[in-house]
Amino acid sequence: MTTKYIFVTGGVTSSLGKGIIAASLAKLLQAQGYRTTIQKLDPYINVDPGTLNPYEHGECYVTDDGAETDLDLGHYERFLNVPTSQANNVTTGRIYQSVIEKERRGEFLGKTVQVIPHITDEIKERVQILGNSGDYDIVITEIGGTVGDIESLPYVEAVRQLKWDLGENNAISIHLTLIPYLSAAGELKTKPTQHSVKTLMESGVMADILVCRTEHELPKELRAKLAKFCNVREEAVIQSIDASTIYDVPNLMLEQGLDKVVLKKLNLDSSTPDLTQWNEFLNRHKNPKGEVNIGLIGKYVELQDSYKSILEAFIHAGAENEVKVKIESIHSEYLNDDNMKFKLGHLDGVLVAPGFGERGVEGKISAVSYVREANIPFLGICLGMQMAVIEYSRNVLGLKDANSTEMSEQTPHPVIDLMEEQKSITDKGGTMRLGGWDCELLEGSIASNVYKTKTIKERHRHRYEFNNIYKEKIETAGMKATGYNPDTGLVEIVELPEHPWFVGVQYHPEYKSTVANPHPLFVAFVKAALNHSEKRKGVSMAQE
Ligand code: GLN
Repeated sequence: MTTKYIFVTGGVTSSLGKGIIAASLAKLLQAQGYRTTIQKLDPYINVDPGTLNPYEHGECYVTDDGAETDLDLGHYERFLNVPTSQANNVTTGRIYQSVIEKERRGEFLGKTVQVIPHITDEIKERVQILGNSGDYDIVITEIGGTVGDIESLPYVEAVRQLKWDLGENNAISIHLTLIPYLSAAGELKTKPTQHSVKTLMESGVMADILVCRTEHELPKELRAKLAKFCNVREEAVIQSIDASTIYDVPNLMLEQGLDKVVLKKLNLDSSTPDLTQWNEFLNRHKNPKGEVNIGLIGKYVELQDSYKSILEAFIHAGAENEVKVKIESIHSEYLNDDNMKFKLGHLDGVLVAPGFGERGVEGKISAVSYVREANIPFLGICLGMQMAVIEYSRNVLGLKDANSTEMSEQTPHPVIDLMEEQKSITDKGGTMRLGGWDCELLEGSIASNVYKTKTIKERHRHRYEFNNIYKEKIETAGMKATGYNPDTGLVEIVELPEHPWFVGVQYHPEYKSTVANPHPLFVAFVKAALNHSEKRKGVSMAQE
């Protein structure tokens, strides 16, 4: 079949959850047998979000092919269980970079290079790359930002042209808006939506479907009013009411018939989506039989989005273990040896988060030291793993001032160091060790028991590495390297066999956890936390 395209735009305000709506719709279509993928177009000038601070844009999500992308791609993978790639995330920076490179190569044959048609053509080409691959029946393209923004204009124009080129039943647009509730008047208001649809129309794009974010049920009359003023059918006014979990949204969209309206407009057959596995997960997630407390130690703890994939991986792993994982966010800058017991003593597990730069690292190192001695289950991810190696080197090997050269270039013991090939790199964007790398697991290790296989492939995003010069010394002291890259010999996993559950990984397991495939390492970590909590309960009962 020819690939069908669905464009998702947003109006009135940002943060309406376009990514979740796109992912939920994709889930419903996938569950009816349609091969579906989602793409995000971001209207900022950074070539990719890799250089963005998490305070600006939340987590940077990494794909198998090593693209540094928007966190919405994480939702797409978690919902669909299908990997995304560089083609699934395009920014204005990348579009311009590509057009300017073509201009330098003389590809425009002396023409004046302009926003229309050159930039818009480049956008159209990027949208169709996924469709033309033959891998998908339906491509959903989410356009970042809000309609009416200056930077969104070329994208909306590209949507207008694509809808025209592809024809009515091959490309449709969904507009996501907000219906605010004025509590003083006790009323839901449609005017901002009317204006936003009008703004979209000024650019020549008619919304086929409206998805209305709301805190209260939309009454029938209000839907009729919206339909009339916004040129859509009443059945195409879909309510998106606030949900207690994002994983409820596919079912809420199903109840509203979003999938049916979409398929009808695309001239495709609709059936009842098979959400059996999804609903089993939801059921386990919502009916936990126990609870574990896990500390997430990082420096961006004020912002939920900075550790999005880690938090979601815990939801998947919690459901798998049938427990509620309560996450306590702990700011590493405020941790020190004096308050450690108070801040961490009650926890069933501690995760030391990824990160960059010096701020807060000493608190992370102290935290590792505490959980190592208190036998609390520990998972260190990327920088967290590096902190575990530094802590062990300092406190067990006695290498005072051991450090990563990221934090101290002059350290006498660079147990974490830059690889030779990284030393000459000055550009920050896209130059880390990125994407999927093979890792061989040592038999009998926690990792090999958890993954139940010999070779794994996990995603990376870092510059610094375990320094193999220290490997022998560290291993003799007791910390074991249990996973390594077969081509480079780089250490990817460290463990402490003497500890109940202590694992540090140089890669990011959280990126690969999905509803259908909860990540085995997170599942095992939550299980270890559960064991720890039960053991502790046993001890306190024995004391009573
Ligand atoms: N800053 C460290 C490095 O670049 C760790 C990066 C991370 O945690 N993602 O190696």
